[in-house]
Amino acid sequence: MTLSRTTRLTCPKCGSSFDYEFVPGASFTAIRLGNSRYMRCPICQRFSVFKLTGAPSPSSSPPGTTTDR
Ligand SMILES: [Zn+2]
Repeated sequence: MTLSRTTRLTCPKCGSSFDYEFVPGASFTAIRLGNSRYMRCPICQRFSVFKLTGAPSPSSSPPGTTTDR
């Protein structure tokens, strides 16, 4: 339904926060590193590793499926 989502990222270099729209399967300027992305900060124009907090993990079970009940 929703193929893209906007995630708030914080640049470790300049400390600026910005909204980044992730498009699954179309990582043109970012390198996928699990839950991180190696991309360029739009504020300081420097390449840094950004932690994706809140982004869905493609290979992880959703919470609740491992409930042993
Ligand atoms: Zn920056």
